[in-house]
Amino acid sequence: MAAYKIIDHTYDVVVVGAGGAGLRATMGMGQAGFKTACITKVFPTRSHTVAAQGGIGASLGNMAEDNWKWHMYDTVKGSDWLGDQDAIEYMCREAVPAVHELEHFGVPFSRTPEGKIYQRPFGGHMSNFGEKPVQRACAAADRTGHAILHTLYSQCLKHQCEFFIEYFAIDLIMENGACRGVVAWNLDDGTLHRFRAHKVVLASGGYGRAFFSCTSAHTCTGDGHGLVARAGLPLQDMEFVQFHPTGIYGSGCLITEGARGEGGYVTNSAGERFMERYAPTAKDLASRDVVSRAMTMEIREGRGVGKENDHIYLHLEHLGAETLELRLPGISETAKIFAGVDVTKEPIPVLPTVHYNMGGIPTNVYGEVLRPTAENPDATVEGLMAIGEAACVSVHGANRLGTNSLLDIVVFGRACALRAAETMKPGTPHKPLPKDGSDLALSRFDRLRNANGSMHTSEIRLAMQKTMQMDAAVFRTSKSLAEGCAKMDQVASTLPQLKINDRSTVWNSDLVEALELENLMDCALATIVSAEARHESRGAHAHEDYPDRDDVNWQKHSLAWVESGKVKLDYRPVHTYTLTDEVEYIKPQKRVY
Ligand SMILES: Cc1cc2nc3c(=O)[nH]c(=O)nc-3n(C[C@H](O)[C@H](O)[C@H](O)COP(=O)(O)OP(=O)(O)OC[C@H]3O[C@@H](n4cnc5c(N)ncnc54)[C@H](O)[C@@H]3O)c2cc1C
Repeated sequence: MAAYKIIDHTYDVVVVGAGGAGLRATMGMGQAGFKTACITKVFPTRSHTVAAQGGIGASLGNMAEDNWKWHMYDTVKGSDWLGDQDAIEYMCREAVPAVHELEHFGVPFSRTPEGKIYQRPFGGHMSNFGEKPVQRACAAADRTGHAILHTLYSQCLKHQCEFFIEYFAIDLIMENGACRGVVAWNLDDGTLHRFRAHKVVLASGGYGRAFFSCTSAHTCTGDGHGLVARAGLPLQDMEFVQFHPTGIYGSGCLITEGARGEGGYVTNSAGERFMERYAPTAKDLASRDVVSRAMTMEIREGRGVGKENDHIYLHLEHLGAETLELRLPGISETAKIFAGVDVTKEPIPVLPTVHYNMGGIPTNVYGEVLRPTAENPDATVEGLMAIGEAACVSVHGANRLGTNSLLDIVVFGRACALRAAETMKPGTPHKPLPKDGSDLALSRFDRLRNANGSMHTSEIRLAMQKTMQMDAAVFRTSKSLAEGCAKMDQVASTLPQLKINDRSTVWNSDLVEALELENLMDCALATIVSAEARHESRGAHAHEDYPDRDDVNWQKHSLAWVESGKVKLDYRPVHTYTLTDEVEYIKPQKRVY
C-alpha cells in the first residue's frame, strides 16, 4: 500500500453530512459548547434536503383544530405498525416546538392572512384519529427544504461550527466495538484526514441511487450505510423503499404531493379519476404506496397514457394560473423544463419513482446507533449516532407519510445534540487512537484507487440499478425477488473486477464513484435479501404472493449484516410501548383506504 500522509484533527463531535439532519445536529452541538466539525462531500446547501418541496408536518392547528396525538395516530397507521411508537410519540410531540424554533431561526414560511404559518393538506394526515383530512404541512411555498437548509447553515456559522467541505468520509475508526472517529479524503487537494471524536454522528442521507429511477440527488449513495456495514453493524428494515407516485415520466424529477394537496388529481387513458375506485375516502391523497400501486395497476391493465400506455396524467390546470403561481411556482417550472408542459393548460406525465428509504442505520430515540443482540435488542454502540434518512429510528416504519421526513431530520438532529449535552462535557480529554484504527479506510482507498480490472464503475452500477428497479420495486413476487437476489449476487460478484482510469488523488471523480458504488451495493443487497425474506405485505413492501399483513409473525424489524457481498438476516422486536403515559400503544388495525 502506498504511504499516505495523514492530517490529524481532534473534536468533541464530528458530524458526517450537512443536509437538514447534519446541520441541525451540528448547530445543536455548537450551541451546547462542543468543538464540532461537519464533514460533507458537497457544499452544505447543495445537500438533497434542498430539493424538498411540500412541507414539514406539525400539528400547529393554524388552519383548523389539530393535535399531536392525531399526528401520532396517522404516523403509526402510515408506518403500518412497523414504527416504534416511543419514537413516533417523541417526534409528533416535538414537532410543534421544532417548527416554531425554525421560524425563530428565520425560515421564511408562507403565511395565512392573519400572519400565521401556512399549512397545506398532505396524504395520510387526518384530524380526530383518521376522521377527515387536516392541513398540517407547514410550507415555504414549494421550496420548504431549501428554506430550512439555508437557515440552518447560517445558524451553524453563528455557533462557530467548523466545516470540512468537499471531504469524503471513507470509513469509521472503531476500537473494541466503540466508534473513535472517521477517516476522510479532501477531494480538493487529495489529502487524507483522520478525525478523532467522542461522538461521530452519521447524517449522510438515503440511497435512492441504488435504483434506476429516483427523485433523489446523485449524491444519495448510502455512504453512511456502507460505513456501518463495514464496521460489522446491521442495517434495519431495508426492504421498505417508498415510491413517490408523481415523478416526471422520463427524468424522475419530483412533483410534490403538495400538488395533490392543493387539489391536483391523477387520471388514466380513459380520463377516469381512478383513485376514487382504489381509495374512496382519501382518493388522490391516499398514502403514497396506495397511489403508487393504483397507478402501477392501471398501467399494467393497459390503462396508462401516452404512446406506450406506460404512464399516468397529473392534472393541475383546473387550479388556475394564480394559485399555481402562488402555491406551486417551483413545480410549474420543473414541469416546463423536464416535461415541456405548461401546467396551466395541460396535465403532467408522471410515474411512480423511488423517493425515500424508510430503512437505514438502527437507532434509539436519542439517535444512538444500535448493535442488537439476542439478550438486548436495544444495545447501543459507544460513540456512534445516526440521524435523518440514513437512520432508522424507526418513526416511518414500513411507509413514511409526506412531510414527516423534514420533521424527522429536524427533531432527531436536535435530539442527538440534546443527548450529547446530557451525556458528555465539552473538551473531555481523548485517549490516543488505536494504531491500526485507520487501516480499514486506507486499504479500501488504496485498493480502489489502484483497481485495474475490466469493468467500469458505471457498468456495474447500471446493472445494479436495473436489477433493483425491475425486481425490488412496487410489485414484488416470490419469483421476482428470488430472481432479483440471484442477479444481485452476480452483480455484486463483479465488484472485484472494477477498473479505475484516474490514479490521482485530486478531484478524482472516478474514485469517488467507485467508493460510492461499494456503499450502494451493500444497500442494494440488504434491500433485496430482506425483501425476499419478508413473507407478508406491509406498507411499501407489497408482496403479491403474501397480500396480507401478518402481525403474528412479521411485526418485527429486519436486521441485515452485509459482509463481502453476503447478507445475514435477523430480527428485533418493534417497540410496542410509548415513551410517556400521556398516550397508549396504538394496537394494529385492519387497513381501510
Ligand atoms: C425531491 C425530494 C423532495 C422531498 N420533499 C419532501 C417534503 O416536502 N417533505 C419531507 O418531509 N420530506 C421530503 N423529502 C425527503 C427529505 O427531503 C429527505 O429525506 C431529507 O431531506 C434527508 O435529509 P438528510 O439530512 O438525512 O440527508 P441529505 O439532505 O441527503 O444530506 C446528506 C448529506 O450527507 C453528506 N454525505 C453523504 N455521504 C457522504 C460522505 N461519504 N462523506 C461526506 N459527506 C457525505 C452529503 O454531502 C450531504 O450533505 C423529499 C426528498 C426528495 C428527494
